[in-house]
Amino acid sequence: MTDNDGFEIIVIGAGLSGLTAAQYFSQKGRRVQVVDKGRSVGGRLATRRMAGGLADHGAQFFTVRSARFEEAVQQWLADGLVYEWSRGFSDGTRHVEQFDGHPRYAVRGGMNALAKSISAAIKDTVNIQTNVKIVTVERGATTWRLIDEQGAEYKAGALLMTPPVPQSLALVGEYLTTDERRALEQIAYAPCVAGLFDVVGGVRLPEPGALQRPEAAISWISDNQQKGISPDARIITVHANGTTSQQLWEQPEVETLAFLRQELEMWLDDGAEIREAELKRWRYAQPTALHGERYLISAETLPVGFAGDGFGEARVEGAYLSGLAAAEALHSRL
Ligand SMILES: Cc1cc2nc3c(=O)[nH]c(=O)nc-3n(C[C@H](O)[C@H](O)[C@H](O)COP(=O)(O)OP(=O)(O)OC[C@H]3O[C@@H](n4cnc5c(N)ncnc54)[C@H](O)[C@@H]3O)c2cc1C
Repeated sequence: MTDNDGFEIIVIGAGLSGLTAAQYFSQKGRRVQVVDKGRSVGGRLATRRMAGGLADHGAQFFTVRSARFEEAVQQWLADGLVYEWSRGFSDGTRHVEQFDGHPRYAVRGGMNALAKSISAAIKDTVNIQTNVKIVTVERGATTWRLIDEQGAEYKAGALLMTPPVPQSLALVGEYLTTDERRALEQIAYAPCVAGLFDVVGGVRLPEPGALQRPEAAISWISDNQQKGISPDARIITVHANGTTSQQLWEQPEVETLAFLRQELEMWLDDGAEIREAELKRWRYAQPTALHGERYLISAETLPVGFAGDGFGEARVEGAYLSGLAAAEALHSRL
């Protein structure tokens, strides 16, 4: 399928919420197209190749709280796609005592492999196009008309927006009622600066190879080799927390990397060395203010829905549940 016309629904965003929605639509026999500006699917389920290894630089793991997500995760476990990584993380001051017993899941081959797997499972029934950045959305009488950076057009009777909400509002905010727009404008996100470091030698991170300290300037350090996704190179992921990431946002890349590296150096074995470093800046990393419902669908006649981790729960599970709930609601509206 290459023709951009003739789709009932266009989903903007091939992160977990957009792909989950697309999977639901395809199960219901809907003609659906997904477009994403990224080079590949996944959004914040992001894994990067570096120095012969792999590193998760967006989401690091996920937890399960709902029966609905549990059902999907059990299937992914049975398929060998995901595995239990640990039951908690140390903050560096104590070790196993802090484990709370709840499974933290990771994805074989990196978090992005989860998105790739869903995308592969639906590729025969869903048109998924990457490298497509939508820059204009227009509402006609019976169809939404989207235009990408190259000037190509996409049309459908319904639209599902899954980017971080400020990005969605910039595209379609004008078509909402004042109340809808105000509700969505309340959703806010913290940024995250993420450093990836290729280390030759050992690190002394506590089991299972990560530390988590949400309140500290450096909120997360993890060894992707110990995690099990990077057998051939020890790539370490270092995240600054939201407040510190905000402060570092305008800093030159070298300074930000130096700041992240300083903390990592405390955990290196004697003689270990950092050989390469890369920086990723996430402007909308994790929501800090959420919409109370799992999705919002405009009351206007031509449907546009909003979903993602800004709705309900600010994490991987929230993105999944929101995409699914929005798709169910849109499907019943069409
Ligand atoms: C650094 C970091 C650490 C995290 N750690 C964890 C964690 O450990 N556990 C956890 O549960 N969650 C974590 N999260 C949050 C988790 O990654 C998200 O909740 C989840 O992946 C969001 O999925 P989504 O589909 O809602 O959004 P996204 O994954 O952001 O998908 C939205 C998609 O829309 C696309 N898009 C945007 N604008 C356009 C446009 N104009 N045209 C076309 N496409 C567009 C984007 O390219 C993107 O692929 C973390 C996130 C970050 C960034």
